[in-house]
Amino acid sequence: MKTSGFFTLVRYIFTTIIVGLPVIGLFTVGRFRPKTVPNTKAICLINQRNFQQAVRSYADKHSLKIGDPIDWTKIMGPGNYIEQVRECPIHGTSAYDYSTTVPPIGTLAAPCKDPAHKPPNIEEW
Ligand SMILES: [Zn+2]
Repeated sequence: MKTSGFFTLVRYIFTTIIVGLPVIGLFTVGRFRPKTVPNTKAICLINQRNFQQAVRSYADKHSLKIGDPIDWTKIMGPGNYIEQVRECPIHGTSAYDYSTTVPPIGTLAAPCKDPAHKPPNIEEW
């Protein structure tokens, strides 16, 4: 069977598409995929809640009262309440103002310096 003219052209185009698409896909799929934007504020709020729970647990375990000193090295770090140092996704590790004493109920133990990251309804924390 003789292939020439139009059919050769069709076959050429077809082959180009079959070979070309995966190559094009390889270089474009990653770039045009919409980037998932993590809810950065939520991550910060979770960090602050975890700090708070850790401090309350630590204070309870060691029979500490409000105003007693906090040893953060016993709270954060391997084997402790919080295994790793946490960072605010926007402001980094220096975002948190670690209280040196057990805070009163309703006061954060390690608030983020960003007022927009203040957790709501912390009266009973
Ligand atoms: Zn934050």
